[in-house]
Amino acid sequence: MLNYFFGLFSHDLAIDLGTVNTLVYVKGKGIAIREPSVVARHRKSKKILAIGTDAKRMQGKTPIQIEAFRPLKDGVIADFDATEAMLHHYITLVHENHSSFLPIIPRPKVVVGIPSGVTEVERRAVQDACLSAGARIAYLIEEPMAAAIGANLPVSEAKGSMIVDIGGGTTEIAVISLGGIVINKSLRIAGDELDDSIVSYVRLKHSLLMGLPSSELVKKTIGSAHHSKEEKHMVVRGRDLENGLPKSVRLSSAEVREAMASVINQIIEMIDETVEEIPPELVGDVMEQGITLAGGGALLDGIDKAISEATKMPVWVVEDPLTCVVRGAARLLDNKSLLDRVRVTGGLK
Ligand code: ADP
Ligand code: MG
Repeated sequence: MLNYFFGLFSHDLAIDLGTVNTLVYVKGKGIAIREPSVVARHRKSKKILAIGTDAKRMQGKTPIQIEAFRPLKDGVIADFDATEAMLHHYITLVHENHSSFLPIIPRPKVVVGIPSGVTEVERRAVQDACLSAGARIAYLIEEPMAAAIGANLPVSEAKGSMIVDIGGGTTEIAVISLGGIVINKSLRIAGDELDDSIVSYVRLKHSLLMGLPSSELVKKTIGSAHHSKEEKHMVVRGRDLENGLPKSVRLSSAEVREAMASVINQIIEMIDETVEEIPPELVGDVMEQGITLAGGGALLDGIDKAISEATKMPVWVVEDPLTCVVRGAARLLDNKSLLDRVRVTGGLK
C-alpha cells in the first residue's frame, strides 16, 4: 500500500548521456530535460560555472581562464569530474522539483544509457555519480541496446536485430539477439566529423574560414548523403583566408555532399563490414526486419538510401531518432525482467 502511494509520486529517471545531447525522462512526465552535453569550468579552481545550454553558449567565447567543453568526447568519458557534475546537476534538479512539495518522496531509481566504449571503471564511476546525486539505485545499459528497445525491436527474442546509432561523437553499430549484444562496433566518426568536413571543404575550395555552429547548420539544412533531384543552396558567412575580411559564399547541396562523402563512406563501410559478420542464423532476420537507424545522424537526408544501396539491406529510420535512447531506457523503468537481462552494471548498492 505504502509502495503504491509512493509509486504515485515517484520520479524515477531515464538518462541518455550522449556525446552531444543529454536527455532526461521523468517517469509519468516524459522528457523533462534536453540539453547539450557541455560543461563550463574555471581552468584553475575547477569550479563548475555552467552546465548544458548555458555552457554551450559560452563555447568559443570564453576568456582564457574558463573552458567550455564536452565531457564525453568520442564516446568515452574524457573528463570524469565534469560528467559527474552533469549527472549530479540533472538528477538533483529533477529530485528537488518533485520533492519540494512532498519531502518524504523516495529517492529515484535511475537507468542510464552510456556509450558502449565506456570501460568497467568508468561504468562504476557513472553509477557512483548517480548514487551520490541522490539516486536510490542506478542501472547502466549500453546505448545501442537502449536505442533498440526505444525502436521497439524484439531484443529479447531469438531473432537478430541490427541497430545503427549515429550520434555526434560516435557511431554505434550493434546486432542484438536474446537480450544480448552479439556484435558491437563503436566508430569515433559521426556527426561532428561531418561538420568538420564541411569546414575543411569550404576552407580549401572557397578560402573561407567558417565556424562549427554554421557548418552544423549547413549539414542539417542542405546536407545529404544521397543524390536528390532537388538541389538546395545556402549562404554561409565567415572570414576570407586571404585578406582576413568578412566574406560570404553560396554553397550548393552537391558541394556539401562532396564535402561529407569521405566521412559518410567510412560510416557506411563500417556498417557493411558488420553486416558481413552477422552469424548466418541471424542474417535472415536482419534482412527481413532491415537495419534500424537512430541518433541525430539518422536525420541526415538520404542516409538510409545510401546505407541501403551499399549493404543491399532494407534500412529504416526510427521515429524521432534523437530521443530513441532515452525512450528505450525509460521503458526499462517499468520492465524489471528486461532490465535485469540487458543491464551491464547496476542494481548493487
Ligand atoms: P549523441 O547521442 O552523441 O549525443 P545525438 O543522437 O543527440 O548525439 O545526435 C547529435 C548529432 O546529430 C549532431 O552531430 C547533430 O549535428 C546531428 N543532427 C541533428 N539533427 C540533424 C539533421 N537534421 N541532419 C543531420 N544531422 C543532424
Ligand atoms: Mg546517443
